[in-house]
Formats: sequence, C-alpha cells, structure tokens
Amino acid sequence: MRFKQDFFEQLEGFYSQVYPQAISNPHWLGWSDDAAALIGLDKPNDELLMQLSANHAAEGATYYAQVYSGHQFGGYTSQLGDGRSIILGEAIGPDHAWDVALKGGGPTPYSRMGDGRAVMRSAVREFLVSESLAALNVPTSRALAVIGSDLPVWREGQETAAITVRLAKTHIRFGHFEYFSYTGKGDNTKLTQLVDFTIKQHFPHLSTDNAGYVQWFSEVVAATAKMVAHWQSVGFAHGVLNTDNMSILGDSFDFGPFSFLDTFKEDFVCNHSDHEGRYAFGQQPGVCFWNLQRLAQALTPLIASDDLVQALNQYQRHLIDHYLLLMGNKLGLPIFEFTQESSDSDKTEQQQQDLQLVDKFTSLLEANQLDYTNSLRRFGELDLNSQHASLRDDMVDLAKFDQWFAAYQQRVGKVDDVANWQQARNAANPKYILRNYLAQEAIIAIEENGDNTKLAQLHQLLRQPFAEQPEMADFAKRPPEWGQGLIMSCSS
Ligand code: AMP
Ligand code: MG
Repeated sequence: MRFKQDFFEQLEGFYSQVYPQAISNPHWLGWSDDAAALIGLDKPNDELLMQLSANHAAEGATYYAQVYSGHQFGGYTSQLGDGRSIILGEAIGPDHAWDVALKGGGPTPYSRMGDGRAVMRSAVREFLVSESLAALNVPTSRALAVIGSDLPVWREGQETAAITVRLAKTHIRFGHFEYFSYTGKGDNTKLTQLVDFTIKQHFPHLSTDNAGYVQWFSEVVAATAKMVAHWQSVGFAHGVLNTDNMSILGDSFDFGPFSFLDTFKEDFVCNHSDHEGRYAFGQQPGVCFWNLQRLAQALTPLIASDDLVQALNQYQRHLIDHYLLLMGNKLGLPIFEFTQESSDSDKTEQQQQDLQLVDKFTSLLEANQLDYTNSLRRFGELDLNSQHASLRDDMVDLAKFDQWFAAYQQRVGKVDDVANWQQARNAANPKYILRNYLAQEAIIAIEENGDNTKLAQLHQLLRQPFAEQPEMADFAKRPPEWGQGLIMSCSS
C-alpha cells in the first residue's frame, strides 16, 4: 500500500491520532481481489496480514480516528466519532485514492463505553455486503478483507473479534458537517475548511466559492437520491440510516443490521432496535431526504437557505429519475424519448404512469408474498409475444395479475428481438443476492469449525450476481423457514 495523507495533513483538529491494537492469531477469513485491485494490490501475503491486523505498523500509515456527530434515530448526539474504526491514510490506486480503515481495530477517544472491536459475524457481513453491492453496481464503500482472530470479545455472550478492512473514497459523513457547524458557535473557520477540503478532493470540477458551494450541495442531493434509488431497486434495507452513517459522496456506508428483501415487504424492518420502523425498507427515500435536510441545516452558515431549499427541491426529481431508470430497465420499459412534439410534462406524465406500474407490481408481490429478486429474474424468461408469463403461476389472484400484465404489455409494446430483450432483463435483474440466511450459514461454519469455505464460495458467487452459475442455483432459493425474516441486532 502506498499512502498519501491529505486528510491527516490538511485537517488537523478533525481527528485524534490513535494506534490500533493488535488482534491475536490473525488469519484471513476473506479477501477481495476486486477491492485489492482498486489500491494496486494483488494477492494477500503474510506481512500484509500482520499490518492489517495491527500486529505490524504499515509503512506510510498515520492511524487516526475522525470526530463527527449525527442524528441517531431522529435525535441529535453532539459527539460521536470513530469508536472502532482507525484510518491508515489514503492508499493510492490506479484510478484514485481510497481511505483504508481497520473497522474493529481497537478503542479510540470516541469509543465511549465500547470496546472498539467488531465481532466476527458483523465483520463478515460488512465484507460480504460491500463487495456484493459493488457487484450489483450500487455505489458503496468496499472491503479489502476480513481478518479473524482468537481474541475474545463480549456481547450477549463471548465471541471472537475480527477486523474488516474497509476502503472508502472518503469517510466524511453528513455528521462531520453537523459537528463542525454546531461546535463552531458562530466561527465558521473549520466548517469552511471541511467543505473546501471535500470539494477539492472529491468534487474537483467545482470552485470553493459561494457558487461552488451551492453546486456542491446540489450534487450531494443528487448522489444521495441516486444511492437510495439503487437500494430500492435491488431491495436493500440499510437498517441504520443515521446522519453519521451517510457518506457525503452518496456511497452506501457503515453497514450494521442491513438486509436484502427476500419476500417483498414495504414496511420490512431489519434492525432489531428499530421499534418504530423508522428505517423500514419503504421509509428509506424519505429518511435520506430528512438526512439531507439535517445536512442543509448544518450548512446554513455557509450557504443561503434559499439555495439549500432549491437544491433539496430537486431531490424527488433525481430519485424518480434514477429509480425509474433502474426499474424500467429491470421490467423492460422503453425509455422515454423526447420528440419535437413532446414536452417536460409528457415525460412527467409517463413517469407517473410508470411509477404506478412499478408500485402495482410490488403490491402484487407483497400480496402474494413473493420473493422480490426471484420474481424480477423471471422477466428474463418472459416472451411478451407468447402471452404467457411464468410469474403468473405464482399468483393467487390471477385476475389482478392479468390486469396488471395487460397494462404492462401495452407499455412495453412490441418486442422484436426476444432473445436480446431477455438478455437485457437478465443483465438488470440479479439471480443472486446476499440473502441473510446465506450469510448466516457462512458465519456459522466459521463459528463452529473455523471453516471459511462457505464464505469464500458465497463471496465468489456474489461477484457475478447476474450470471446463471447453474451449479450454484441453490443459492438463489428462498430462505428455509429458519432463515426467513431474520432480524439482526445492533450489538455488532
Ligand atoms: P454504528 O451503529 O456502527 O454506526 O455506530 C455508532 C457509533 O458507535 C459510532 O460512533 C461507532 O464508532 C460507535 N461504536 C459502535 N460499536 C462500537 C464498539 N464496539 N466500540 C466502540 N465504539 C463503537
Ligand atoms: Mg456508524
């Protein structure tokens, strides 16, 4: 790893230097070649294992924990910070640099009552979900590796500690801006410094003057809308959408009790502690908007509120545009094309109709308790000219389905090259997703026998979620009874 230290060197006072604490008997549980390539690494080696388990210092690393705050479940916590994640610096890759962080690397000044550790099960889940979202083309932080140990940690019972080696284009969160806005008490020096740094590093096409700030915030709004549109389209529930878990770049970030939907359920809640369903699957677009409003509020010392509101007002448009782009591709809805006669309002009308079509489709899935991923995958078998949809066989209320299907057929129109059309659907609808029960099986094999073969197999499978991989077809099955609607705890 070759590091640069821009955050460390340019933002003194925005972090605490802290050396990670080693985990004993470290061993690779998982390694991502794809993530490794992003920072110019090839295969894992023993020295790297010692460095990433904090047994050896990495050359060029600085080791620090960032300070930030955030709105957690709606309430403001005035100081959070990296309680168990220690950043080594920005590793230089062929395209750009990536922060390298040891999540579970030991206590920091921000650990509060926590031990600074991550348990193996949560480290493995973060590893899998990062790499699986990336393969689904969802913007996300990445995971280079997950490292197991024999270091005991206590949660509900005794478990072992592990480290996820996280790569992120940045670790700057909405909560960073909240912290420096509210601790500034009228002095905007640090807030300005942070915004300027963010723009120079990650939005280099923008200026660091007022016009640049306004444009920057608009781009954050757009990127956030795009991220959540992706989540809704692949059936991903993040689980803890606090503002401190929102990356300023609109990358999926800081995974805890996340879950992909098996059966489609709008109000599905994957987080054990989320009693009110604040972060239910269907709430995510609204919650991300609420989080953007909190960010806007923190930025009022620097950006006129009219400009902030104007940018926020674009959220819905971005969300719908992206969501329909993704869902339209999944269902095979032709893209709206402007002609000389058409206007913006024609596009809006088409979008409203398409949203209804998609909504009615997901309602059918919900009413019939169907699997979201597998139902969508069936569009790759669909021959609209032959009238028969295999999906129909799964429905209880056939009349309702037929009514929907007629509207759908009319919208899609005539398909000339069926094979080509089906291929495009299969390229948009994954066959394999990270089902909770699959992750659970991989974790149990490690817990019980120290065997990471299942993890490796699952990781490998999810690198190509759109490919048939017939010998792996069992992994596309709906969960067995024990694995349905698994709800994860936050004690990770
Ligand atoms: P999270 O829910 O993982 O986003 O964590 C919320 C906050 O709690 C963050 O500031 C974390 O760094 C901190 N935290 C979570 N788990 C631990 C732990 N085991 N030790 C120390 N801090 C933790
Ligand atoms: Mg967090």
